[in-house]
Amino acid sequence: MQILIADDSRTNLAILTDALQKLGHSVIPAHNGQEAIQLFQEKRPDLIILDVMMEGLDGFACARKIRQLGGDEEWIPIIFLSSSTDDESIAKGIDAGGDDYLTKPFSDITLAAKIKAMQRIADMRQKLFDTTQKLYLLSSTDTLTGVYNRHQFDRSLKEILAAANRHHYITGLLFIDLDHFKNINDTFGHQVGDLLLIEVASRLKACVRSNDFIARLGGDEFAILLNEIERPEDAGNIAQKIVNTLSFDYNLDEHNIRSGASIGIACYPPSKTAEELILNADVAMYHAKATGRNNYQHFTEELNEKYKKQLNLEHALKFALERKEFFLTYQPIFDLKTRNIVGIETLLCWDHPQFGLVSPSIFIPIAEETGLIIDIGNWILRTACHQASLWPLDQIKNFKFAINISSRQLLRENFATQVMTILNDTGLSPQQLELELTETAMMTSTAGSFKEGIIKLHECGISISIDDFGTGYSSLTRLKHLPINTLKIDKSFIQDSTTNPNSAIIVNCLIALGKNLKLNVIAEGIETQKQLDFLIEKGCPQGQGFSLSRPVDKEQIEKLLKKQIYERTNSE
Ligand code: C2E
Ligand code: MG
Ligand code: MG
Repeated sequence: MQILIADDSRTNLAILTDALQKLGHSVIPAHNGQEAIQLFQEKRPDLIILDVMMEGLDGFACARKIRQLGGDEEWIPIIFLSSSTDDESIAKGIDAGGDDYLTKPFSDITLAAKIKAMQRIADMRQKLFDTTQKLYLLSSTDTLTGVYNRHQFDRSLKEILAAANRHHYITGLLFIDLDHFKNINDTFGHQVGDLLLIEVASRLKACVRSNDFIARLGGDEFAILLNEIERPEDAGNIAQKIVNTLSFDYNLDEHNIRSGASIGIACYPPSKTAEELILNADVAMYHAKATGRNNYQHFTEELNEKYKKQLNLEHALKFALERKEFFLTYQPIFDLKTRNIVGIETLLCWDHPQFGLVSPSIFIPIAEETGLIIDIGNWILRTACHQASLWPLDQIKNFKFAINISSRQLLRENFATQVMTILNDTGLSPQQLELELTETAMMTSTAGSFKEGIIKLHECGISISIDDFGTGYSSLTRLKHLPINTLKIDKSFIQDSTTNPNSAIIVNCLIALGKNLKLNVIAEGIETQKQLDFLIEKGCPQGQGFSLSRPVDKEQIEKLLKKQIYERTNSE
């Protein structure tokens, strides 16, 4: 053991040094309290022996100072050396931070025994210290990747921001989310997923400085705190480096895997609190995901507004049905040659007291994501079929009443039964109903259950049309094997058909494709006479669009239908 002794009597110091050296210890001698403190700081001995009665700083005062300097973690045993050991001075010594007393004069045996006892205490303290360190490490790191965990992230964030505040630094927070991690896990198994996370952590380490803070917050989410950056753009540069690095191929367990990451960046300041910083980085990351993944985005106030609005919409949508804010409009579909109405498409509208009219292209995706589409879709089917049953549709040959549905509705097990119940209740015939599904929905749904859903509807006599056709890259083989009745050419092609030769070719091909597959073809979004003429020339049988009729309310539809029936009866 390395033992520090402090005694202002040179003789005593020499005797004690001699005795300790004989016992095999090395000695650091100090001639007064002040020197003892200085040597303690320099040498960090294993044991300290202090004479109580010293000139200047006495043993007790010296012990107190040492305890203050060392803190709890470096609790080195202290023995007091004194000629008088009355109760009061023993108590005083223990209070000052001492562990034992040695009364002068002492025998070598007593000295050896006391030192042995102190050694035991020192060993136990060391073990306790090591275990605490290990526990701390365990509670603060992610066992899989070795970077910090969420718990430590929360703790360190507060400390790092407090330091940034004191020194007027900018701290950047990067939220990193791996793209399609779930797919990799599902395809290659969890073991490969784990290997990917380990590799990602090691690539992240290589992208930042050693004093930057990396944590895995859970699953495939990582966070990096960039200390002392000068401008938010610096965080952008690092984020770009990370996006590049993480998109290089991974060779894991003999699989060649491609991944990528979406990163959201927020800085403190301008974010004012730790909570705000996290929220802002999250908004930015949400935006990075929405803008095609494998990129980074900075938080901005405009994004915040947009995101808040989205959340507000989401919230409001939950109550829209019970507050009766939905209504339906109907757009007629025409036979392009005769200009007769041969069908009607039902379109959902949402009139919110605060937001006004919200477009279905905005709220339908939210309704789909949140699952609200099931109840809303049910309401549409019931309301629309009831309305249609009041119109004289029977008097128009091959008339189709169309309703848009979402794939989430179709994929419900009892969807066909549900539709049949509504048809029974309202009196509309299945042959008059056509359900529209977008091509994208068709392509992104699981093949088996989607086909099953369509077949069930077909067996009930209900028609199916593929909406927005041409935008979803569907495979023609798949199309051929589904009992589909109608293709609706997406309005973007129709609108470009008279100005863009490529669109004209596509429209022409889609009309021919429909005819070959013996399907009805409807052109959507006809806005001009020129487009109409083009479609008629190419032999497109049916169409809808503002130039023919805008979506209108139920009263107007009734008028249009009655007029057509009246004119036909009179002309016969
Ligand atoms: P969609 O099914 O393709 O419906 C046609 C959309 O094009 C409607 O927009 C309609 O108002 C619009 N439109 C019709 N003619 C023209 C035209 O000449 N020019 C232009 N620029 N637009 C025209 P809307 O009502 O905003 O609906 C947008 C989309 O929202 C629909 O596209 C459909 O995918 C979805 N949607 C609407 N109602 C429902 C519904 O009840 N259920 C479901 N699941 N989706 C619906
Ligand atoms: Mg439609
Ligand atoms: Mg469409």
